[in-house]
Amino acid sequence: MKGPFVMAVDVGVSNVKAALIDRHANLAFRERRDLDLEQGQSVVARELVEACRGVLNAADLTTRDVKAVGCAMPGCVHPEDGVVVASATQFWLGVDVRAPLEAAFERPVHIEGDGNAAAIAAYHFGPTQGQNHLLGLNIGTGINCGFILNGKPLRGSGQAAMEAGHMPLFADGKDCSCGRKGCWEAHAGGGALRRLLADARAQGQPLPELPENLADRARSGDSAAIKIWSQQGEILGLGLAVLLNVLNPKSVVIGGGFAESWSLFRSSMIKTARGRSLGRNAESAMICFQEPETMSLLGVAAAASAAQGRADFFVDAPGLIGR
Ligand SMILES: [Zn+2]
Repeated sequence: MKGPFVMAVDVGVSNVKAALIDRHANLAFRERRDLDLEQGQSVVARELVEACRGVLNAADLTTRDVKAVGCAMPGCVHPEDGVVVASATQFWLGVDVRAPLEAAFERPVHIEGDGNAAAIAAYHFGPTQGQNHLLGLNIGTGINCGFILNGKPLRGSGQAAMEAGHMPLFADGKDCSCGRKGCWEAHAGGGALRRLLADARAQGQPLPELPENLADRARSGDSAAIKIWSQQGEILGLGLAVLLNVLNPKSVVIGGGFAESWSLFRSSMIKTARGRSLGRNAESAMICFQEPETMSLLGVAAAASAAQGRADFFVDAPGLIGR
């Protein structure tokens, strides 16, 4: 694959993905590493740099060859200093990954929250390109959201808006990674589904350990697996109905690893979201991002190229995102 490339990094709760992305939004030379958070913030931050170096080595490029560098973080990020100001995972609070990345690349590096990165991806690529009132959801282990209003992510007074994964949806709900109970993502999404499968297996139910294997079973017609995916769709739709009523988005675009199983939860999610929201709020389009697992990487690549004066990097993308 030929350059030029933007370097995009997507930090998850305990892993990192790095990739080079070309002007047609194709990903090349991807790398994924697990992160050992027990090693502390500075060691983990350096791991991100090593993941980038691994990708560059595979591509036979150096840090000077990329046109822009962006990194999506698990939580909300202050747009000025790039530090994580809110995250369900305590470890990431206050982490500055920008400094080590900027030192390695010898240039400015753009840091963005993963929810905003999802919304920015929807704003730049695909059928919702350039739309206003655009809701992006990245569903992986947790549920990360961003909302584009007047061409910019909605950030809130403390830069911590759109933590919708932690809206308390159930008064007596399950324990959440944030330390509270009944949050949306404690009941839906990849982490919640893994726990559901673990609990069911502990009770002797013949279910697989991993959501992707449950998806395989559902696709081959297993009724128990189909039912679990449908129920996941209902819970996703319940939270989505809240967001539709509050934000009245024109479109909702869903990506992330969980959305690789879009066809298995799509209809129950949309039915619930429409049935539980009011009037005009139920009219939002709800679609899946192309290659859902790449949503954060593409979003932060678009944000980085715009922030670093290369708004025209992506062919056929408006590149108009502001801060
Ligand atoms: Zn929570």
